[in-house]
Amino acid sequence: MTFTTRFAPSPTGPLHLGHACSALLAHDMACAAGGRFVLRIEDTDTSRARPQWEELIYKDLAWLGLTWEEPVLRQSDQLELYHEALTQLAQRGLIFPCSCRRRDIRAALSAPQEGAKLAPGIYPGTCRNRPMSDRKPGDALRLNMGAAVQSLDMPGFTELGAAHAGQHQLDPDRLIIEIGDAVLGRIELETVSYVLASVVDDAAQGITCIIRGKDLFQITFLQVLLQGLLNLPTPDYHHHHLIRDDQGKRLAKRDDARAIAKYRAEGATPQDIRQMVGL
Ligand code: GLU
Repeated sequence: MTFTTRFAPSPTGPLHLGHACSALLAHDMACAAGGRFVLRIEDTDTSRARPQWEELIYKDLAWLGLTWEEPVLRQSDQLELYHEALTQLAQRGLIFPCSCRRRDIRAALSAPQEGAKLAPGIYPGTCRNRPMSDRKPGDALRLNMGAAVQSLDMPGFTELGAAHAGQHQLDPDRLIIEIGDAVLGRIELETVSYVLASVVDDAAQGITCIIRGKDLFQITFLQVLLQGLLNLPTPDYHHHHLIRDDQGKRLAKRDDARAIAKYRAEGATPQDIRQMVGL
């Protein structure tokens, strides 16, 4: 199988040094393996995605010296595919509609709990017994994690990144306690969560290795579970070190000071950026 990897930014702000690290590393690994490098625009968050940020992604990556396959896949063009995945899960009784707002969840979590002790902030299951036929506009669609882990043999994945290198097996108890009934979308078709959309697209694009920051390592367990539920292949993963600011905080989109465009405007070269991210 041809080594195929991707860089999958959300066009919700300028790319920063952390993105440069993911994109450069993925591109380098694809070149070294004689494989493919795919760019995917993850624009399902319509409240935050903007065309000018998408334009800047192309400009920043080209300036860094990267090339990618055309046409670029944009998630807003793939909504039917995500809807099919949600429908598949619904038909197997694995998702339920949830009308809880943040404050409802906080209130439920502060009440005395029975049964397994959930990790802090994990959804307590208030709407879990609601059937899909009861769904209403504005409801979130949540995965019934208990039912999901019972419905398949636990899959695993190979991690190549140094910090967690090795083989990881999913553990049903940890999925229930640490991830719980994750939101996969909303009743309205145009709202699908990143975790699901990304799993569907990684399979559709034939991705064999996912290269991204270590902050997404925990999400991998949910994504590998979704691959199992949807009968999709599980790629290898490589989570790289995080690029931190001077105070040791992880960089976020709003840290414009670390934006690639800003360094470019100040006269930095792509080689300088490579050095800054430790490549
Ligand atoms: N769109 C996600 C982000 O920008 C990508 C995560 C991933 O690589 O899976 O954080």
